[in-house]
Amino acid sequence: MFVYADHAATTKLSAAAMKAYAETAAKYYGNPSSLHSVGQEAQEMLTACREEIAGILGAEAREIYFTSGGSEADNQAIRSAAYAGARKGKKKIISTAIEHHAVLHTLKRLEREGYEIVLLPVGESGVVEAKAVEEALDENTALVTVMLANNEIGTIQPVAEIGAICKKQGVLFHTDAVQAVGHIPVNVKKIGCDYLALSAHKFGGPKGVGALYVRRGAPIFPLIEGGAQERGKRAGTEDLPAVAAMTAALKASVADMDATSAALQGLQHKLIDGLSKIPHCALNGDREMRLPGNVSFCFEGIEGESLLLLLDEKGICASSGSACTSGSLDPSHVLLAIGRVHDVAHGSLRLSLGAENTVAEVDYMLEAIPEVVNYLRNMSPVWRDLMAGKRQFIL
Ligand SMILES: *Cc1c(COP(=O)(O)O)cnc(C)c1O
Repeated sequence: MFVYADHAATTKLSAAAMKAYAETAAKYYGNPSSLHSVGQEAQEMLTACREEIAGILGAEAREIYFTSGGSEADNQAIRSAAYAGARKGKKKIISTAIEHHAVLHTLKRLEREGYEIVLLPVGESGVVEAKAVEEALDENTALVTVMLANNEIGTIQPVAEIGAICKKQGVLFHTDAVQAVGHIPVNVKKIGCDYLALSAHKFGGPKGVGALYVRRGAPIFPLIEGGAQERGKRAGTEDLPAVAAMTAALKASVADMDATSAALQGLQHKLIDGLSKIPHCALNGDREMRLPGNVSFCFEGIEGESLLLLLDEKGICASSGSACTSGSLDPSHVLLAIGRVHDVAHGSLRLSLGAENTVAEVDYMLEAIPEVVNYLRNMSPVWRDLMAGKRQFIL
């Protein structure tokens, strides 16, 4: 059996997106900046996509800026608010310890540029408290940036509460909603955010395209200079087929959201209940306050990398919080933030389900995963010490 259970990393292009991509590439090949008819037709198509996406998010079309994806949108939101704050002498930015690297690394660089960065802790639940944000706010704060849903452990953050607090204090608020858009209801007015980042490839759209919502009146500066595209805030000829495909993917995801979400929750709970029977393991993050398709576990006494390789041999594509593109063996900052010690954090597994996953696939995973965990534990000297009582179990 083959199971793709890594939808939080990326999703397959949906049929609707594929169709929109091909049709738009063939029909609307003009440059939207051109004044002739072919260009103007492309411009109209671009506007229609912007209106569609804005409508889904509860925004106005002019509040949507197309970007190359979630990372760029996060970078632009944070830098825009940071620069605007600095002009008024405000150089403090509040965020959380569990943000995506697109946020964390931008903040790290701003710290080197003289900003004060405060990363709020999250408890074992993997959810930040709105009250902690309120307490950290002061007159020097330029921006609060808190993700809507976490990409590793799937936990959903109280962004509407945080948005209300920020509005009351007159502080800009950005939310990285890349894991949420297309999966759970997202409305910029209900959240009360000034900026919101989304990425097409997390909901059945193409890689390399996304959008940034910027509330009318909130500061926005370009990261990329050049032409006057995106109202002068993001230069470069628009990738219209990608934007059209993103729009089609989002429409399709939102239309099916309730049914997909209910089905995914069924699979998710089955997986969580089944995997919980493995001794010395723990679910990462709150069981209820999480994305419908996310299942994240730590298994004591094993290495996540070995687990992934053996699961791949069994046809299961999953991910591990400790999987590192850099090749370093640093455990996930998210798992450390929820209190997992290094050894335990290394034994992590993330399964992220999508609409195409089936009950039969979940049954297969519930057979394969305990088998592989057992096999790895039997080879592990750490496990031997744990079983012999020479080391204390943590989980
Ligand atoms: C994937 C992801 C990003 C980055 O989006 P890209 O389009 O791949 O640049 C940012 N934040 C979160 C939470 C993500 O899951």
